[in-house]
Amino acid sequence: AQPKKSRRRVLLKLSGEVFGGGKLGVDPDTVRGVAKQIAAAVPDVEVAIVVGGGNFFRGAELSQSGMDRSRADYMGMLGTVMNCLALQDFLEQAGVETRVQSAITMGQVAEAYIPRRAIRHMEKGRVVIFGAGAGLPYFSTDTVAAQRAMEVHADVVLMAKSGVDGVYTADPKLDPNAEKLHHLSYDEALRRDIRVMDQTAMTMCKDNNLTMVVFGMEGEGNVTRAIRGEDLGTVVTP
Ligand code: UDP
Repeated sequence: AQPKKSRRRVLLKLSGEVFGGGKLGVDPDTVRGVAKQIAAAVPDVEVAIVVGGGNFFRGAELSQSGMDRSRADYMGMLGTVMNCLALQDFLEQAGVETRVQSAITMGQVAEAYIPRRAIRHMEKGRVVIFGAGAGLPYFSTDTVAAQRAMEVHADVVLMAKSGVDGVYTADPKLDPNAEKLHHLSYDEALRRDIRVMDQTAMTMCKDNNLTMVVFGMEGEGNVTRAIRGEDLGTVVTP
C-alpha cells in the first residue's frame, strides 16, 4: 500500500520543444517563463518533472542519417540532462528548491534516480527533475513520464504541448474541421490513432489506471493552472 499524501502530486512532462523555444538548444527566456509558472504552483502541489530532449537530439532521426540507433539514443538522453540543468537553475532563481535525478549516473551534476528519495524530496517541497529518460535506448521521455508517475505515485500525468492545446479529432494543422476533445478514454485515443502523445505511454497509463491531461503551453499561466488541477486541455482516462 502507498503512504497517504497530504498534497496533490503531479508528474509534469516538458518536451524539448519547451526548452528550445522551437529552435536547437536552450532559450533562457523561455525556460525562465516556464520555471516561474511552476514556482507559482509549488507551495500547494508536489511536482516531479520529466524532461525531454528533442531540442538537442532525437535518436530515431540521427539513426536515419546513418548513426547507430543506441548510441544516438544515448546522445538524446544526454541532451535531456542539459535541459534539466537549465530548468533547475531558473527554478532556483524563482525560489524553488530542486533536485535533478538522472537515469544515467553523473554524480557531479545530478543525483542518481532513486524513487524513494524522489518522493522524500517532494514531501519536503522540492521539485524533482528527472533526466536521461529511462537510461535505455528505444524509449521516449513520454513513456518515462508515465513510468515515473507510477513509481512516485503521482495523481496525474500532465503532458505540456507546444503548438497545440489538447487532443483533436484530427491534426488541427492539417484538417480545418478538426475539433478539440475535452475528454476521451485511452481506448478511444488508441483506436483513433491519436499521435499527440506516445502510444506506449498511453498503454501504460491505461493498464495502471492513471489519468493524463494534455494541454498547451501557450495560454497565459497554463502550466500553473494545469499543476493546480484546473480544467484545461484534454483529459484522457482509463
Ligand atoms: N531517449 C532514449 N531513452 C529514453 C528517453 C529518451 O533513448 O528513455 C532518447 C531518444 O533518442 C529520444 C531523445 O532521447 O529521441 C529525446 O527524448 P524525446 O524524443 O522523448 O524528447 P521530446 O520529444 O520530449 O523532446
